[in-house]
Amino acid sequence: MLARWSSWGFVAFAPLALALRDPQTVYDALSAVLSPGSEISLASDDTYQKDFTPRYNFAQAPTYSIGVTYARDSNISILTTGRGHGYTTSLARVQGGINLDLGKFDSIHVDSGAKTMTIGGAVNGYQVATALQEAGMEIATPQCPCIGFAGASLGGGIGPYSGLYGPISDSLLSVDLVTADGRLLTVNETDFADLFYGIKGAGFNFGVGICFTFRIYPATNSGQAMNADMTFVGSQSESVWKAVEQLAASQPKELAFGLSVRYSPDPALKGIMIAANFIYAGPQSEGKALIQPFLDLEPQGVNISTVDWKDIPSVANGGAITNYGCIPGVYYIPYSLNLYQVDVPNLVGVVNYMSEAIGADAVLQGTSIVWQQYAPHGFQLQADDSSAFPYRDAKAFVQIDILAAHASQAPVLTNFGRELRDLLQRGSGRDQLDVYVHFAHGDEGPASWYTAERLPKLVSLKETYDPTGMFSWYNPAILATTQHYTV
Ligand SMILES: Cc1cc2nc3c(=O)[nH]c(=O)nc-3n(C[C@H](O)[C@H](O)[C@H](O)COP(=O)(O)OP(=O)(O)OC[C@H]3O[C@@H](n4cnc5c(N)ncnc54)[C@H](O)[C@@H]3O)c2cc1C
Repeated sequence: MLARWSSWGFVAFAPLALALRDPQTVYDALSAVLSPGSEISLASDDTYQKDFTPRYNFAQAPTYSIGVTYARDSNISILTTGRGHGYTTSLARVQGGINLDLGKFDSIHVDSGAKTMTIGGAVNGYQVATALQEAGMEIATPQCPCIGFAGASLGGGIGPYSGLYGPISDSLLSVDLVTADGRLLTVNETDFADLFYGIKGAGFNFGVGICFTFRIYPATNSGQAMNADMTFVGSQSESVWKAVEQLAASQPKELAFGLSVRYSPDPALKGIMIAANFIYAGPQSEGKALIQPFLDLEPQGVNISTVDWKDIPSVANGGAITNYGCIPGVYYIPYSLNLYQVDVPNLVGVVNYMSEAIGADAVLQGTSIVWQQYAPHGFQLQADDSSAFPYRDAKAFVQIDILAAHASQAPVLTNFGRELRDLLQRGSGRDQLDVYVHFAHGDEGPASWYTAERLPKLVSLKETYDPTGMFSWYNPAILATTQHYTV
């Protein structure tokens, strides 16, 4: 199976203070076990930043399991990198680890006849959308085109076409996975079905996915979609949330929408603005009729167009997702929660609180509350117990996105993020905090990421397939210390 992939990902490690061995020792040891064409780089090398990219060319492939086995036997933390967009704070526990960069696993093969797509572990959302558009097919893709498609699917993966097809993980048919003991397993409904359940929603707990096959679907509306952007002033928030509540009651599967509540320096927007984006997988006339309640509020900057489905991320919100979501190196403080109802008074209160707080302290200006609402249809196509993805009944996935200008702002921004999460939670419709695992801050805990009901099954899978906790850095199902926790 490995032969299908002609080149292997880049292996590097960061010789930080907590490294369990001298970097040169690790370098020498890896040099001895990897094949001659492999590249090993120390983070202290001048060339590290340049070479540590997917563009770097590998001639020969070492055996993948050697890298995994080496890490296990050497008690050095190992972390897989797909497209590097994972941001939970739990990742910071990896210090002096080995980075398994899958950058060269970038192939896409689309079989329209069989309605399947097979991709490498580091293919991104835009590559998928481009290949499928060309083939007259489609699938749910994340909002941000640069994130790893495989990486997203391991936690579910949600985006505008989830109203049609559910989380991306619902379309997963098979994964080639290297497990902690170095085996390469083909995991699907038939083989290792228990593990397949876990991979679809909690997949990063169990190994390194190098090859993923998905079900794909004939393009809706000939691959064309309506994109509509518009902006409301903060003082319209009650009317906007009422329109959201109304739409939530009967949201058709073709319609997805998002709101971003944030600071605006534009005097016309009076401090706080609500940017709205609607995506409709159908004719523009139908889409416009559906969003008429929002248009009736006379928003500013209305821009409605019909675009190729693959270009949604680059046009939605005036291209904000591509502009901001694809630039590496930001100082980002994420919080998130799922909402199970549209509690208009609570939401109005949160917007007012945010407006006052930002008015009083300019450091908070980089804060946005981002609301994503997908139609329930796609999420209800598969049974709740079909996979580890637990949030089929969430009304909205809410992110509190905070960008800091520099690290010294982190304490005050962290407090503000938590405060906003607490305030939103009061109107969530649930007592417990539920958080989509990919949007998590990292402080919530396994029950919030996977639900208390699913945890026993995931813990048992973890004990079977990753007993030493090798894959326990990204919001893991088991937080307990194991021999691989170095901090
Ligand atoms: C700007 C932005 C926008 C986003 N928008 C969305 C969205 O619309 N919808 C959505 O669902 N999510 C979204 N996300 C979250 C995204 O799904 C996760 O961050 C996901 O982990 C990204 O995968 P990656 O390969 O890019 O990240 P990486 O940082 O490379 O991976 C994150 C973790 O996943 C694991 N992992 C990744 N690839 C593999 C693999 N092949 N095999 C085994 N383990 C692996 C590793 O543990 C790794 O630490 C967004 C994130 C950002 C930063």
